[in-house]
Amino acid sequence: MMTPAKTLAKYRIRSTEIRERILGLFQDCSFALSHSEVLNRLGEGADRVTVYRTLNTFVEHGLIHKVVDGQGVTNFALCQSNCRHQEVHHHDHLHFQCKKCGHTFCLEKVTLPSLNIPDGFQLEEINIRAEGICEDCRENPLPGIS
Ligand SMILES: [Zn+2]
Ligand SMILES: [Zn+2]
Repeated sequence: MMTPAKTLAKYRIRSTEIRERILGLFQDCSFALSHSEVLNRLGEGADRVTVYRTLNTFVEHGLIHKVVDGQGVTNFALCQSNCRHQEVHHHDHLHFQCKKCGHTFCLEKVTLPSLNIPDGFQLEEINIRAEGICEDCRENPLPGIS
C-alpha cells in the first residue's frame, strides 16, 4: 500500500502531519471509523474541528466515503483504488455491519444487482447495508482480540 504522503499527493491533497496520521489510521483499519473513533485513535491533543475538516476534505477528494451505520452514526471508510470518484461518486458496494463488534466493513467484491431507476430520477449514490457477524468475531469469540 502507498504511504499516506504518497496517497495524499496522488489525490492532490496538501500533505500535513495530521492528514497523514488520519489517513494512516484508515489504511491500517479494515472497517469504517467514526469521527470520535478517529479522535480516540489520534489520542491526546487531537483537535475535533481539525479532524472533522480533514475527514470532509478526504470525502470531497474521493479518498474516503461516508457510511451510515444501523444506529445512524456516520462512519468513514477508505475508498478502493478502483473507485471512480473523479467522474461520478460510486458507492455501489455492500456495507456489512457486524452485530457483535458493531464495525462496518466495505465489501467491495460483492456485486450488486443493477437497478432500473425510472427516467427523471438521477441516481447519485446507492447504500446497501447488510448485517451479520464479521470474520474476526466468528474466529475470535472472546472479546478484545483483534
Ligand atoms: Zn465483528
Ligand atoms: Zn464502503
